[in-house]
Amino acid sequence: MFGVGKGAPVPCVGRCAEAPVSLPRAQKSPPDYIDYAAYDYTTYRQYKGQSDQVLHALEAANLRGLGGAGFKVADKWRFFDKATNAVLVINADEGEPGTFKDRHCLERNPHKVIEGALIAADVINAKDIYIYLRDEYADIRQILQIELPKIDTDGRVIHLRRGAGAYICGEETALLESLEGKRGLPRIKPPYPAQQGLFGRPTLINNVETLWRVQDILQNGIEAGSKRFYSLSGRIQKPGVYEAPLTITAQELITHYGGGLLDGHKFKAYLPGGASGGILPAYLANLPLGFGQLEQYGCFIGSAAVIVLSDHDNMKTVCTNLLDFFNHESCGQCTPCRVGCDKLSNMLRHTLDTDLAQELCAVMRDSSICGLGQAAPNPLLSALTYFAEDFT
Ligand code: NAD
Ligand code: SF4
Repeated sequence: MFGVGKGAPVPCVGRCAEAPVSLPRAQKSPPDYIDYAAYDYTTYRQYKGQSDQVLHALEAANLRGLGGAGFKVADKWRFFDKATNAVLVINADEGEPGTFKDRHCLERNPHKVIEGALIAADVINAKDIYIYLRDEYADIRQILQIELPKIDTDGRVIHLRRGAGAYICGEETALLESLEGKRGLPRIKPPYPAQQGLFGRPTLINNVETLWRVQDILQNGIEAGSKRFYSLSGRIQKPGVYEAPLTITAQELITHYGGGLLDGHKFKAYLPGGASGGILPAYLANLPLGFGQLEQYGCFIGSAAVIVLSDHDNMKTVCTNLLDFFNHESCGQCTPCRVGCDKLSNMLRHTLDTDLAQELCAVMRDSSICGLGQAAPNPLLSALTYFAEDFT
């Protein structure tokens, strides 16, 4: 029913505050103390063949893609109205720095995600479901290997595939290349995967939490669409994954969920959306974190990885670290990103000519093939706006 590739487990740093149990990292024996036996897939059966009803519910809940891009889910599924031979891919290659909420969903209840996937597959009439799982999530692979064979997939085949540690393979078209057995180089869009995806077939790619939320909305009502999981980390007392309203602020997250800042630290800044979403100052921590709320401040919420920084952090050092990350993870396919990340990383290490850096950032944003090169300048540009003194 499903096939698994090869690779070595690597421990992960994520912490899952609401998980029923805390799993040891990269353990050898399956976590058999988690009992998913009670899960019965009633919601899938209830909505089977009811595509219009499903799409209306997702529209009413205003569900948007929770991998980071925030594309309206019902709109994306509607692209498959007339598609034949469609495929569903679950993007579980969670790689955005500071993001560990998909891990939380899959540990807490993989069946809820798979039920969301079965509902999606029913709507777009997909017979194949691929799970592209981040290789560092060795414990989840064990859970899936145990749980997937127990599921009545209604004639569908679920293929479990492992990533190999490349951040770029979380980008949907690089992921498709990787699934096809090729090097993970992003494709130029259009054509979008909905038109020409895995092995040329119309392909729906949804993030893990998006599918979790699909199931949640259909089971519990459209209010379930007004929440999402935040991965909260950094200089705070209680890092973890917290389910909270879309409109919560960073300050509320830190105070009500994160237990405040670490002793001896003063709140200075936060990254709302991991490495890609830019950096905001503490005095803008009362902005709602919903989709489209932070763009006017040069940032975006993305995968909702909120990383809290303090007066112990210098923003030039933070940006150097982030640009080094993008430079390392760039696939090197297009010049603006390959050369731009390297140049910015070097400039940050030596003398930063801010005018030249800003010009270079504009070129990267405008002409890089994929989101990595387009978003790589975000932390630097926002840090220059709000923390110019850290760069002098
Ligand atoms: P995008 O806006 O290009 O696309 C969003 C989705 O809509 C894609 O599936 C795309 O195929 C589809 N789409 C858009 N227009 C379409 C059209 N006209 N026809 C058919 N389909 C269409 O964004 P993206 O490049 O897929 O994602 C970027 C986001 O990923 C960033 O916002 C970043 O936050 C996030 N990200 C997340 C992680 C993570 O670990 N969760 C890692 C890196 C980046
Ligand atoms: Fe590769 Fe960067 Fe170009 Fe994306 S933007 S295709 S990661 S070189």
